[in-house]
Amino acid sequence: MTDCLFCRIVAGEIPSTRVHETDDVLAFRDINPKAPVHVLVIPKAHHDDVAAMAAADPGLAGAVLAVAGAVAAAEGLAESGFRVLFNTGPDSGMEVAHAHAHVLGGRPLGAMVGR
Ligand code: AMP
Ligand code: ZN
Repeated sequence: MTDCLFCRIVAGEIPSTRVHETDDVLAFRDINPKAPVHVLVIPKAHHDDVAAMAAADPGLAGAVLAVAGAVAAAEGLAESGFRVLFNTGPDSGMEVAHAHAHVLGGRPLGAMVGR
């Protein structure tokens, strides 16, 4: 058993609200949403962060982005817009060291980076 939270979500050991799934990618709702739509899109394979994922498997990184776009469209954000965000490393506030895209939308999202 792994101690990676998102690997455990992929394995079904920890419950999540799944909104989209492919062979390689899983999308589920963030447990502490920061916007009306807040979905996490992750590779099923463990990579520590987006940079490691893209370096190891560029096709997988593309697949994660494709699911992010599909989720945004399915959530009704195609016209209103949305943000896709990858936190990476300590200064970003990254909490879970398994690559994940945040898909955020459903209200004006404000400045890209706070001060
Ligand atoms: P980050 O700060 O970029 O590492 O984002 C981690 C995200 O995972 C946060 O937005 C958390 O709210 C979210 N999160 C933590 N635990 C869970 C969980 N069990 N199910 C869904 N989302 C979670
Ligand atoms: Zn993991």
